[in-house]
Amino acid sequence: MLYGSIEAGGTKFVCAIGDEEMTIKERVSFPTTTPEETMPLVIDFFKQYQTDLAGIGIGSFGPIDIHHDSATYGYITSTPKLAWQNFDFIGTMKKEFPIPISWTTDVNAAAYGEYVFGSGKGLSSVVYYTIGTGVGGGALQEGRFIEGFSHPEMGHMLVVPHPKDDFAGSCPFHGNCLEGMAAGPAIEKRLGKKGQEVAEDDPYWEIEASYIAQCAYNTTLMFSPDVIIFGGGVMKQRHMLQNVHDAFAKLVNGYVETPELSKYIVTPALEDNAGTLGCLALAREAVLHS
Ligand code: ADP
Ligand code: ZN
Repeated sequence: MLYGSIEAGGTKFVCAIGDEEMTIKERVSFPTTTPEETMPLVIDFFKQYQTDLAGIGIGSFGPIDIHHDSATYGYITSTPKLAWQNFDFIGTMKKEFPIPISWTTDVNAAAYGEYVFGSGKGLSSVVYYTIGTGVGGGALQEGRFIEGFSHPEMGHMLVVPHPKDDFAGSCPFHGNCLEGMAAGPAIEKRLGKKGQEVAEDDPYWEIEASYIAQCAYNTTLMFSPDVIIFGGGVMKQRHMLQNVHDAFAKLVNGYVETPELSKYIVTPALEDNAGTLGCLALAREAVLHS
């Protein structure tokens, strides 16, 4: 039996096949252009495995409709990527693959991967953020995603500007929300170069860390989770973690006693595999419960 994984991101779709042990057998990636161009590539990839394919897990950029009783369940909804607005993702896949298909956000899929196999393994409450082109967050409680009328949009929480930061924020909706202040494009707008080109000893990283610490602070007070995991391209600046711990401790100011910070605010154990492994595990769950 095989499982399929689709990480549908804003710039690329990563598709993979895994076996019962969740070992990745093959992985390919296609640029995210239009559904007419991208989807046939996705479908052709999985068709090669159709006889053994038991289920598929999809983690998609959003916003997406996750309500099973909604007429547009399985759609990408109001995304700024016009070609993908109101795209019936699950319907398109089900037409070709009438098998169980699990459907969640890209960040929830990565959160699930870390929960099952990574930094959240064995813990009951896990919150995962990605700080990349955007900021997204996913929360799991006893293996279930926390959601209500929709999936969380924790990347848009408000943050207090750092006193040395005069950047107004790049979020078109909120200006200085977390994404507007701390995602990769905000760094590039401020400094005129990409995050990966900014030296480790640049004083900017203290400002960046202060926003991530505020995110950890808000998360702690809202969920008291067992662990908070920060992934995504910007977190490749591993040296920031110490700054985040220090700024977080100052913000909490002894109000709650958290787990030891080196085990509480961490980076992903699975690195860039969190999304793929999460989708595979979600596909397995979908098959188990079908
Ligand atoms: P995406 O969010 O598009 O899925 P990533 O998580 O890789 O992809 O995030 C891409 C963003 O992260 C870009 O804005 C990029 O400049 C930034 N980035 C990538 N690597 C680094 C790095 N080593 N240090 C700081 N920023 C980085
Ligand atoms: Zn915002």
